[in-house]
Amino acid sequence: MTNIRENAIEYARKNSSQFEQNLCELVKIPSVSTNSENKQDMHYAAERLVQMLTSIGFTEGRVCETGGHPVVFGQTKPGDNSVPTLLMYGHYDVQPVDPLDLWKTNPFTPTVKGDRLFGRGASDMKGQIVAGLAAIESVLKQADIPLNIKVIFEGEEEIGSPNLADFIKENKEMLACDYILNPDAGMVSAELPAITYGLRGLAYFEIRVYGPSHDLHSGSFGGAIHNPAQVLCDILSKMHDEKGRVTLPGFYDKVLPLSDGERKEIARLPISDEYYKQNAGVDELWGEDGYSVVERVGGRPTLEINGLLSGFTGAGSKTVLPAQAMAKISSRLVPNQDPEEVYAQLMEFLRQNMPSTVKWEVIKMAGGFPSLTNPDLPETKAMSKAMERAWGVPPVLKREGGSIPVASDMQKILGVESVLVGFGLPEDAIHSPNESQHLPTFHKGIEALIHFLCNLIEK
Ligand SMILES: [Zn+2]
Repeated sequence: MTNIRENAIEYARKNSSQFEQNLCELVKIPSVSTNSENKQDMHYAAERLVQMLTSIGFTEGRVCETGGHPVVFGQTKPGDNSVPTLLMYGHYDVQPVDPLDLWKTNPFTPTVKGDRLFGRGASDMKGQIVAGLAAIESVLKQADIPLNIKVIFEGEEEIGSPNLADFIKENKEMLACDYILNPDAGMVSAELPAITYGLRGLAYFEIRVYGPSHDLHSGSFGGAIHNPAQVLCDILSKMHDEKGRVTLPGFYDKVLPLSDGERKEIARLPISDEYYKQNAGVDELWGEDGYSVVERVGGRPTLEINGLLSGFTGAGSKTVLPAQAMAKISSRLVPNQDPEEVYAQLMEFLRQNMPSTVKWEVIKMAGGFPSLTNPDLPETKAMSKAMERAWGVPPVLKREGGSIPVASDMQKILGVESVLVGFGLPEDAIHSPNESQHLPTFHKGIEALIHFLCNLIEK
């Protein structure tokens, strides 16, 4: 076994530039799941992944159609029930690139500058998929290992995975496994690896407020009509109190409080207020009273206004009294909140606060449950040891502010918890212009995953 491990690490080091090239190849494909004009590219990305799987030693690899973008599935030892199974999750879709003018390089022309590879999806999460496949390749090239490795790569993560839960339900047998590796989480810094044990959920809504039947002249009608833009602003401004707490009725009722132990572990994280200020480009922070910033981001729920639209927003001026106003809002949820319950709380809040001068409706968009996993699982320990070998320090256990609904879906449907890691850094600018992957961390990540696979086999 020592041989497999050492040889695999050596193989990975020898092939490091090939692995970077594989990543470039994937980044080149504009797999933006939300854009209908990229539908072909989504298929192309899926097919390319299948080719990668077969070329590195997967016996089975195929594109599975869904109601939306396809899922890629593969496995190394189909039909072999004598060995345990590891399922690796990934998503090959990426966020849209706009605002394009803020990119310093073309988002789909992967460009290495210094020790970073720039391009949309380089970090979230094509870099993580390629790191996973590189580690698997490095191990498979050494020996026939007693582990069936399955992969599932979806193409709809960035649009809320509308078809994934059904796909998992319909293919429970095919996806059956003992361990799940989900490398869609991230590190704390290039020197400090992390295992994420808590994820926030998401509830996303569009609120539409309707006033007059058409846009009106603000001179002829101003003073007579309740402006829907004003109504919407009034409502939104009531959604937080002066302590930064969300005011939807019952919003905090099911929130699992952070334990003293967790608050101690969180306090160990080397993340300062200064860090958030710098990365956000602000002079002052804001948030819920009584919690540190890291606690607020990982362990407390929030509500954000994601977008506002109403009236005249072009150049110059137009004295209009708009007919409609729209806001997109979303809530990050923590255990044990439920997106459906938050929807009910929002509806109740709106019923209590909307004036009768307007009509309104709420459109439910993406939703996902928060999750907490058990940090004492054997696979988590295998990962912890693996990361310690690659970085020389044990990983921190952390709660993530983001949402990975697939983790709770898999927990519910397959009955298996996920080990959440990833080799992206907070400064990778995921979802933003100039996204990049730190290449030294990408390569260390590959080595950590090689150790992880070897630890699983040795167990
Ligand atoms: Zn992601």
